[in-house]
Amino acid sequence: MARNLAELSDPFFAAAAEGRLVIPRCDQCNRFFFYPTVLCPHCHTMGHTWVEAAGTARVYSFTAVYRAPAINVPTPYVVGVVELPEGIRMMTNIVDCSADDVSIGMPVKVRFGANWEGRQLPFFAPADSSD
Ligand SMILES: [Zn+2]
Repeated sequence: MARNLAELSDPFFAAAAEGRLVIPRCDQCNRFFFYPTVLCPHCHTMGHTWVEAAGTARVYSFTAVYRAPAINVPTPYVVGVVELPEGIRMMTNIVDCSADDVSIGMPVKVRFGANWEGRQLPFFAPADSSD
């Protein structure tokens, strides 16, 4: 079991570094949840298994950011919440398209890339875009 909250998310980032999107599934009720927590938010029991997600989603909500939070962060960029077919929502960046091309309900697929700190993370791009 994770000794602290940061360790709870280690499997997520380790998989992302390998280009895999994994999400926790409760060992008791078999429902997915996100973000990772000690107790399942559905049945409040401990124990989960990291499972590879399908990698598809739809845009649930989004906003375009035009003011950089730090030096060397290119703008504009799109921050979105996407809804995965596994039934969870995840905050991410919508990439490979302009902010004007993003819409609620738009099909997207996972695409891994480095964030401005150089850490590899799952982003989401329009599902009809090429890799
Ligand atoms: Zn559960």
